[in-house]
Amino acid sequence: MSIINIPQFQEDLIIWFKNEQRQLPWRENQDPYRVWVSEIMLQQTKVDTVIPYFQNFMDHFPTLTALANADEQKVLKAWEGLGYYSRARNLQTAVREVVEQYDAKVPDDPKQLGNLKGVGPYTKGAILSIAFDKAEPAVDGNVMRVLSRILRIEEDIAKPKTRKTFEAAVRELISEENPSAFNQGLMELGALVCTPKKPSCLLCPVQEHCIAYRDGVEQTLPIKKKKIKQSSHTYFALVIQDDAGNYLLEQRPEQGLLAQLWQFPMVKKNEVDEKHLSAYIQEKFQTEVADINDLEPVKHVFSHLTWFLDVKHVTVKGEITLPTHMEQISKNEIKQYPLPVSHQNIYKQL
Ligand code: SF4
Repeated sequence: MSIINIPQFQEDLIIWFKNEQRQLPWRENQDPYRVWVSEIMLQQTKVDTVIPYFQNFMDHFPTLTALANADEQKVLKAWEGLGYYSRARNLQTAVREVVEQYDAKVPDDPKQLGNLKGVGPYTKGAILSIAFDKAEPAVDGNVMRVLSRILRIEEDIAKPKTRKTFEAAVRELISEENPSAFNQGLMELGALVCTPKKPSCLLCPVQEHCIAYRDGVEQTLPIKKKKIKQSSHTYFALVIQDDAGNYLLEQRPEQGLLAQLWQFPMVKKNEVDEKHLSAYIQEKFQTEVADINDLEPVKHVFSHLTWFLDVKHVTVKGEITLPTHMEQISKNEIKQYPLPVSHQNIYKQL
């Protein structure tokens, strides 16, 4: 670290951040609730995607108390399309705890904050530094990439323990006078200049401090060895429409992927083949299938798996026996239900 002129590095980074930062809605003030919501939304999600969701979320739930008192389905509805829905549920659980235990004020104590559901080390550091001006590290993949280059750190950033190396580095580098601008400067540098592929070193405000640039190895950093194994699942997605024009929706289980969201009924293609689909539907719903037509197939990529949905429009005659967790709903009412993106894309075809 001694090869870096730390005060000069801090100054160059902070001045650049103050002049070049993007105007983002959560940067309008240092309200810890807004910082918190934005940081949760930004996990695994691009800034441009988050902006309208953030604004809408703040319109609906402008305060901790408003979010604590809100109906969970309304919260999920406001999150619809952002993905990783457990983030929304955890956020609401944690916000309720803050309202009940901390008099509706986000705690600025690292331990109390870190114990809240969904608040990991990065989010904790981001809230403490950005909202409360505390000199705490906020290290995510973005910051690890930037610092791995500036300090030429060649540890594998896919390994969880490597984060500690970077947190220790930030503790040495961070500006005590302005930790908020320092941490946001590192994040902004990663977003705008020190990008994953082809960093813009020639425009970089901290180029003179950057060891990887000096050594010509910036393109080989960070080291990231682990690959996430992708699996794919193929389903029939059944858009079942009854005599009255209503559709069947089922609610997903309470735990796991897309928990408690609503969808058109799905069945794995390795459990029933196309020839027997009509018989399957007749048996499952105790009804008579009048017609089955193809709709456009839908593909959806999650972080670790991909869904291929073979979408069928099924018209049925007479009574339907509704399995648990299913409802008959008019086309218009479906809009009130939180659907995953893949099923919104099916809905758009109706
Ligand atoms: Fe990143 Fe290049 Fe700047 Fe180094 S000089 S911090 S590699 S953009």
